[in-house]
Parts: sequence; C-alpha cells; structure tokens
Amino acid sequence: NNNIITAENVRLYYGKHEALHGIDLDFPEKQITALIGPSGSGKSTFLRSLNRMNDLIPDVTVTGTIRLDGSDIYSPQTDTVELRKRVGMVFQQPNPFPFSVYENVTYGLRLAGVKDKKLLDQRVEESLKLAAVWDETKDHLKDNALSFSGGQQQRICIARVLAVKPEIILLDEPTSALDPVSSAKVEDSLLAIKNQYTIAIVTHNMQQASRISDRTAFFLNGKLIEVDNTANIFLNP
Ligand code: ADP
Ligand code: ADP
Repeated sequence: NNNIITAENVRLYYGKHEALHGIDLDFPEKQITALIGPSGSGKSTFLRSLNRMNDLIPDVTVTGTIRLDGSDIYSPQTDTVELRKRVGMVFQQPNPFPFSVYENVTYGLRLAGVKDKKLLDQRVEESLKLAAVWDETKDHLKDNALSFSGGQQQRICIARVLAVKPEIILLDEPTSALDPVSSAKVEDSLLAIKNQYTIAIVTHNMQQASRISDRTAFFLNGKLIEVDNTANIFLNP
C-alpha cells in the first residue's frame, strides 16, 4: 500500500509545552484514517501539523519528519499555500466564504488561473455531487453559501476542498457542530468519496469512526497508543 503521508517521530511544542511526544503514523492511499481519543490528547494538533496549519500559531516548534509523496513538508523550500492545496482541510465550524456556492467551489481553481467556464462548471457539478450536496444546490448555485443550513454548508466546504483535487483531505471534527441529520449527511458524503480519496478525520465520536473509517489511530496524552484496522479496534476494545 502506497502512503500519501508518512509522519515520523513528530513532536510539537506550544512554547515549552510538548503537546505531541513523537508520533509515527502513515496515511495509506485511498483509506480513511480516524484519529480518536479524549479531548486534549493531541488529535487536532497532529492533524494540523500535516498541512502546517500550526505555523499560523506563534511559538510553535515541530520536530521529526512529515513527508508528502516522499518530500519533507517542513523543508524551507515548501510553499505552504501550495501545500495546503495538496493537503486540504475541513474544519469543525462550516466556513464557506460569504459568496455564492459557485464561487466557493471554484475559488481554488480560479486562484490557480483556471478561466475555462466549461471546466469550472464541470468541476462544480462533479465536486458537489461527490460531496452529496448537488441535489440541494444545483438550482441555487448563485445563492450565497451562507443561506444554506449548517450541514449543507459543511458539504459545500467539502466540495470546495475536493474541487482542487487534493492528495489528502484532513477533517477536524467536521460533524460536531451539526445536528444528527446533517451529521449523517456529511458522513454520507465521506462514504461517497471513500476509495477515491485519502482522508484523515479527527472525531470524538467512536461510532462515527467505526462507521466510516478503514483505520483507527487512538491518541492519549500526546501519544499514539494504538493504530489498527477499524474492524479490529472495535471488535477487541
Ligand atoms: P484534541 O484535538 O485531542 O482535543 P488538541 O490537539 O486540541 O487535542 O490539544 C492537545 C494539547 O495541546 C492540549 O494540552 C491543548 O491544551 C494544547 N493546545 C492545543 N492548541 C494549543 C494552542 N494553540 N496553544 C497552546 N496549547 C495548545
Ligand atoms: P477543539 O475541540 O477543536 O480541539 P479546543 O477547545 O481544544 O477546540 O480549542 C479551541 C481553540 O483554542 C483552538 O484553536 C486551539 O488551538 C486553542 N487552544 C486549545 N488549547 C489551548 C491552550 N492551552 N492555549 C492556547 N490555545 C489553546
């Protein structure tokens, strides 16, 4: 199995506080890896180290090695804007831009200079379909994304990430801010893209991990204490 990301002995410090104590974890191609564990165990910190979101926080130090397709993402040559396109991220709070659905989904492509209307239209439809929100948006592509429900907004955010065809998608508690029905729809969208995308998802919801993931990584006190096929983890608790 080909690994999209390999993390080796990752330590992360907030100032002097060591939040990750040497994490080794790989992300195999086209698998969903769930990161679970109690609040404060380092799941979100580790996830954010995978696309250098932590660089945005002052006084963060990362040691160890994280490779994306073999290249060290913490090397001085890394263009972090480019990195974050290759390693896309979806947050706990849906955060669509206050523009139309169409503008949201085409945002990354337009930044990259794509002007071909046909290609943009095609990518919008494809991404919204993959994110399981096409039926609800196809007649409202010009409406402001913020006029949709929280669950729809979150799926629009997933479509926005999918549109730039990232190599891996990171999701940080993507359903915790949603009601159960919306949450189930977001899960559906993840199940729909399963086998086509490599995904890492932080969740505190064990049932969600067992429903959608192929592998589960269990964090405790800044350490990775177990990683196995999800079926094994939940059969032998
Ligand atoms: P989880 O996602 O498992 O809830 P976090 O990664 O958010 O855990 O937190 C891991 C540890 O790092 C906790 O002790 C938390 O207080 C600390 N931490 C998280 N974010 C910051 C930050 N921006 N500054 C300082 N400490 C932080
Ligand atoms: P989450 O459940 O998403 O991990 P938290 O409540 O742990 O959210 O953290 C909310 C925000 O506060 C995050 O941006 C996190 O980085 C930051 N944070 C968490 N713990 C600390 C801390 N000890 N010191 C400073 N910032 C923190």
